[in-house]
Amino acid sequence: MSGSTAKKYGFDSVFARQLDEGFPWLKFTSELEPGFRSAHSERLLPYVRAALFVGLTLMLAFFVLGLVSGRSTNDWFANLIRFGLLAPVFVVTIVVSYLPRQQVAFRSLLLMTAIASGLGYAVLNLTASEQYLQAGFSGLLVIVAFIYFALGLFMRTAMIIVLVVTVFYGIGASFVGVPTEFVAYNLALLLVANFACGLGSYALEHALRAGYLESQLLSELVERDGLTGLYNRRAFDKYFAHAWDVAKRQRKSLAVMLADLDHFKAYNDQHGHQAGDECLRRVASRLAMATRRPLDFAGRFGGEEFILVFFDVGLEASARLAEDIRRHVAELNIPHRGSGTSRYLTVSIGVSVASPGETARSPEGVLQLSDQAMYQAKNEGRNRIQVADASEAHIQTGVFQPG
Ligand code: GH3
Ligand code: MG
Ligand code: MG
Repeated sequence: MSGSTAKKYGFDSVFARQLDEGFPWLKFTSELEPGFRSAHSERLLPYVRAALFVGLTLMLAFFVLGLVSGRSTNDWFANLIRFGLLAPVFVVTIVVSYLPRQQVAFRSLLLMTAIASGLGYAVLNLTASEQYLQAGFSGLLVIVAFIYFALGLFMRTAMIIVLVVTVFYGIGASFVGVPTEFVAYNLALLLVANFACGLGSYALEHALRAGYLESQLLSELVERDGLTGLYNRRAFDKYFAHAWDVAKRQRKSLAVMLADLDHFKAYNDQHGHQAGDECLRRVASRLAMATRRPLDFAGRFGGEEFILVFFDVGLEASARLAEDIRRHVAELNIPHRGSGTSRYLTVSIGVSVASPGETARSPEGVLQLSDQAMYQAKNEGRNRIQVADASEAHIQTGVFQPG
């Protein structure tokens, strides 16, 4: 599967792979699921908080309404459930939603809110006097919708909670001695409500999950070069600045390589532009292979010029790495009739190594050093690597001058 997304987009995207594979059980791979859950909670937070406020207010409103209309709501047991269980759970959940870094606690509290609402209202209904039994039951159906749609719970979680409430209601009813025809009818209603809400919630969550994957894939795509799948110039600048900061903090070095295809204009002239594009793709995938470590990366700098950054690689290791890359490109054995250098397509690579914590050069200055080294490699016959000696005092390129 990873092969197919790589083919489609030029790079391997975990989001594209999950979209391709589908998620009929509303679950992503363990690599993606936590990110989705966290994004989902964050996005829904204001709505869920509003729902909790509304829920709490309605609960109090119905209590007052009951008092005014003289119904049995002043019964001490019902009030214990309302004010000893439900209201505190709602209030604590609302308060926690305002705390920083509350995601895990908040999610557990939402679960508690759902369970407490479901079981609490089941008890309220079962203990109501017989004349209000059926009327009160519709409130429980509203709670089912609340559990499914107001608390930002996942479909599976909501379905399990409502099932538990149903079983609890059934067992409770036989204890309390609710008339059998009532119980059978109510249980059937609960099951139907669970099924209907389950269907709606499935469709909703599936669409939410697909939307998440698509938006993540899209943000990956804006960072990629359409032809090669490598980082584009803008993304390269961003990740280079980031690598520079990390290297500075950790006192590590960065090796920066500029690779330019040899006689590529002639290649296009001889073999056609389309064959040229295919070459760029094949070379790019070689470069991507060379930058597999988490902090290394490669970008397309423009035309037939590529740039590679290796984290914590010194001068000698960088020369070996560059030489391996040069050889790997040559070993692609792409015939090149117009090259004055070789029968096959080759590349010239300029390398420079900098320690961001020590050097007086700016990141752009280090890029310029690689560029100069690359031109030197071209001048010396192409199909070779050239390491810039960053310590050479006479090279003034890119020396950062404050003020
Ligand atoms: P040198 O060995 O000195 O690098 O010679 P060169 O011909 O490679 O250098 P030059 O910069 O003059 O030519 C680069 C060529 O790369 C010109 C252009 O036709 C080709 N090129 C740039 N971008 C693309 C592309 O996206 N697809 C294809 N097929 N060719 C491209
Ligand atoms: Mg070239
Ligand atoms: Mg060029």
